Amino acid sequence: MKLKPDAIDLGHNGSPVSAPDQRRSPPTTYRIAVLPGDGIGPEITDVAMQVLEHVTTVVDGLRFDLMLRSAGASHYRKNGVALPDGVLADCLAADAVLLSAIGLPDVRRKDGTEVQPEMMVGLRRALNLYAAARPVRLYPGVESEVRNTVHGIDMVIVRENLEGLFASFDGGTQVDGEVATDTIVITRAGTRRVVDFAFRLAQKRLGRPTDRRRVVTCVDKANVFRSFAFFRKVFTDVAAEYEDVEAETMYVDAACLHLIQNPGAFDVLVMENQFGDILSDLGAALVGGLGLGPSAEIGDNHALFQPAHGSAPPLAGRNIANPMALILSAAMMLDWLGDRYGDRSALKAATLVENGVAKVLAEGDVLTPDLGGRATTKEVGQEIINCIC
Ligand code: NAD
Repeated sequence: MKLKPDAIDLGHNGSPVSAPDQRRSPPTTYRIAVLPGDGIGPEITDVAMQVLEHVTTVVDGLRFDLMLRSAGASHYRKNGVALPDGVLADCLAADAVLLSAIGLPDVRRKDGTEVQPEMMVGLRRALNLYAAARPVRLYPGVESEVRNTVHGIDMVIVRENLEGLFASFDGGTQVDGEVATDTIVITRAGTRRVVDFAFRLAQKRLGRPTDRRRVVTCVDKANVFRSFAFFRKVFTDVAAEYEDVEAETMYVDAACLHLIQNPGAFDVLVMENQFGDILSDLGAALVGGLGLGPSAEIGDNHALFQPAHGSAPPLAGRNIANPMALILSAAMMLDWLGDRYGDRSALKAATLVENGVAKVLAEGDVLTPDLGGRATTKEVGQEIINCIC
């Protein structure tokens, strides 16, 4: 089913909020560490950088120093290291990090795992990026895989980004080639801060599409595991501090069902790391696929923006990958910078970039093959630029 271009109110794009005490005056030039990475990464990065450069010609007082850095699986293959110390230092010193996609399935470590998680988990830990916000928004003109889109789809999946099952990364065990374990870790402090983030985000949004009520849904498996019962308890404690936002809880299996059957009934969802990893892809499938799935990873002092998709090796070098998820991630970056620094230019640029993508989607003439079109990556980028004026 296609939505009419005016069927949903774009409102706030679901970008993450900065902690209020982190706000300070904006730098004259934002230094952005740009990591093109692997596979389709470099070609969609080229286009996203052109969009960012273009928006500075439209919005007064906005300047970027886009610092291109090499890291990822290809870098590992050549140099034996995925994330060089100097690149990590540049990410720590930057105002924000824009990352395209990391990983190649044939570049693996001795234990059989890919290089990609080593780099991503390493970056998340070093930058202390504890909350990943993944907007799931059905833009007018885009086909959804689900039937019930009468109210529209507009939610944000908030994934706890440092703990949960991923806390075991590099720490699981294997015994005699017969038994393997990984351990889930849930802490009160880690859960509090991500749940708090989810409620502050809900306060900023328009509410769920069905009835415009602001609701945060805790997704867990509290019926079975002590760790998730604890996650839910901390969620309930934090929820009591937010009188203007409703709270509900849902088991993860039921959440998968309801997300398909009635996606308009969700506003903000918060969950453990592994559940968030999985439900983000389900969310992207609701609204046109991974080519439309942006993401923001946020800490108190750093932030990284990247699409929810990977490096899509079969599409690499063919100029057919959809650059929109990365461009929407760049819009989230602008929104976060604007919020953090009280910078109206950055906020205006965020809206212009998201609206540019929305316009191209609504018109439906210049789309990449994943969205049923025949346009190239570069043509889509140029069309978005044409719509930002
Ligand atoms: P993937 O996200 O790369 O691809 C999944 C599917 O979505 C494929 O069919 C692909 O063609 C399609 N797709 C993804 N991005 C697209 C885009 N921009 N335009 C059009 N179609 C797109 O996932 P995968 O195939 O499981 O993984 C490939 C590599 O990416 C692996 O090395 C994996 O580790 C890595 N990966 C990296 C990240 C990250 O950088 N955060 C996330 C997921 C996977």
